[in-house]
This record gives sequence, C-alpha cells and structure tokens, in this order.
Amino acid sequence: MINGKTQLYGLIGNPIEHTKSPFIHNTVANYYSHNIIYVPFKVDKYKVKEAVEGLLASNIQGLNITVPFKEKVIPYCYKIDKEAKHIGAINTLKRTNDGFVGYNTDVNGLHRALISEDIKIYGEDIIIIGAGGAAKATAYLCAREKAHSIYILNRTIEKANELVTSIKKTFSGLDIHPLALDDYLMLPNKRWIAIQTTPIGMHPNVKDNIITDNSFYKQLKVAVDLIYNPLETSFLKKAKKYNVKTTNGLKMLVYQAILSYEIWQNIDIDDKVVIEICNRIINK
Ligand code: NAP
Repeated sequence: MINGKTQLYGLIGNPIEHTKSPFIHNTVANYYSHNIIYVPFKVDKYKVKEAVEGLLASNIQGLNITVPFKEKVIPYCYKIDKEAKHIGAINTLKRTNDGFVGYNTDVNGLHRALISEDIKIYGEDIIIIGAGGAAKATAYLCAREKAHSIYILNRTIEKANELVTSIKKTFSGLDIHPLALDDYLMLPNKRWIAIQTTPIGMHPNVKDNIITDNSFYKQLKVAVDLIYNPLETSFLKKAKKYNVKTTNGLKMLVYQAILSYEIWQNIDIDDKVVIEICNRIINK
C-alpha cells in the first residue's frame, strides 16, 4: 500500500520501456516488507540535469541510471565512489544530506553472477568483445580480479585503444591489448574465457552473431554473453556446439540491481531472493 511514508526509488534512462528493474526492486521490497516504490522515468536525452536535480528536490531516495546517462550524471553527484570514478560510469545514486553519491554496481554484479556460475577470472585469459559501457565494467573487473591476460576486441579499434589506456592507468603492468574485431584470428592460441558485451544478437535481431567463424569458438572454454533477451543468443548457441560452458546476462542484471538495493538499504540480500527473481523472469 502506498501511503504518506512510502519512499520513492527509480530508474532514469531513454528508452526505458523494456526495463526489468521495477520488477526486480519492487519484488525485493515486497519480500522484505519495505515501504518502497520503484518507478521508471523516461528522461529527455537533453534534460538529465533537470531530471536529477528535480528528483533530488522531490525527496527521491535512490536512482538507477541506464543508457544514455551513465556518464552524463557524473557532474550532478556530490561524491563518487572510487571504483565508479575509475570506470567513468555510474549506475546507482544514493541520496545523502549533501546530495547524491554515485556508485557502479555493474562490475560487482557481473562478478557475483560469474561466481554463482563457478566462473573465476583470476589467472585466466579473457577476451572482451566490445568496448562500450558494459565492456568498461567488464575490463575493470577482469583487471581488478587479476586475469592473466585480456584482449579487447572491438569494431572501432580506437575505442579498444582508449579502453586499454584507461584500464592501464589504474592497473599498471597488466597484460591487456586492443584488437580489431576482424583480427580475432590473431589471438594467441589459448583456452579463452570470452565475454560478449555488444548488443549484437539482442531481441529482435536474435539471429545476429558478432563472430560466426567456428574456429573462434574452438579456442574457448567459457562463453559469457551480457545479453539476457534472448536468454540464449546465437553467440552462446554456437559456443555450446563446441562444448564450451556458457552463461547469459540475466544474473548480472539481477545482481547489479540487488547490489544497488543493498547500498540504498544497507542490508545483505539473501541469495534465494536472487534465484527466485531470476526464475520469475525466465518463466514470465
Ligand atoms: P554501448 O556502450 O553502446 O557499446 C556498444 C558496443 O557494441 C561497442 O563496443 C560497439 O562497437 C559494439 N557494437 C555495436 N554495434 C555493433 C555492430 N553492428 N558490429 C560490431 N560491434 C558493434 O552499449 P553497452 O551499454 O555497453 O551495452 C551493450 C550490451 O550489454 C547491451 O546488449 C546491454 O543490454 C548489455 N548489458 C547487459 C547488462 C546486464 O546486466 N546483463 C549490463 C549492461 C549492459 P563500436 O565501438 O565499434 O561502436
């Protein structure tokens, strides 16, 4: 029941119609009987300042930030968490007496998702496909968790170069290299964990695949796709054909939301809530 004491949380982005965040957050709030409501706000692409300041003035307690505002909200934060600063992107704002504090829960959301699937990063050789926002969080995680080597494969090589340079600023001495997407045959011969971070293969273009050449999949031991709609992309289907262990982006999606909720409420959320939410999304 919404009443005068109900606390408001939400998400800003554009487009926003596809979001699963209200379902996840309102389910957690119900589970813990918190008097909270979480709503989506579709914000005009040029009005992020007005939206963030207006929501702060309206006593919103916390916000999630999605495309295209993860970098644009930075100037409107009173303070930014150290990791979010290094990554250069924010997906969570928490209200304080002085203004919003910005965090990035994508990194640890992916980390918890991988741990729950028994996929470790430490000492592994990692290919990250893409160099956009999700790739930044992925590269930061792989660097922080001490991967043995990292290759950033991207269509636009300049963006892969930029990401490598920025990661090296925080993690000097790291074995990380940019590579043009079409040059994947130049990868050293290893047993790779490939993390697909581009939108290629996402609904409705489910037949699309970022790399179609079978020889690429023969070198993999694990394939991760950050896409969660569909749950099994063409990329993952192809990897499965070569007996590669696969996992999709659903758990990352749920864990990054759960981590925001934990920051806002200062609680630890039971893993059984995460599993129940994942199952309910799968069976919807
Ligand atoms: P983004 O910042 O726009 O980056 C997109 C990346 O995809 C860029 O590297 C871009 O390469 C590449 N790309 C786009 N179209 C391409 C094409 N036709 N051929 C080759 N490469 C192409 O997007 P993002 O925010 O990183 O999101 C990417 C995906 O990750 C989305 O599907 C999103 O749903 C998913 N995601 C999932 C989670 C989760 O919780 N599971 C969290 C975040 C993101 P260029 O540099 O060459 O343009």
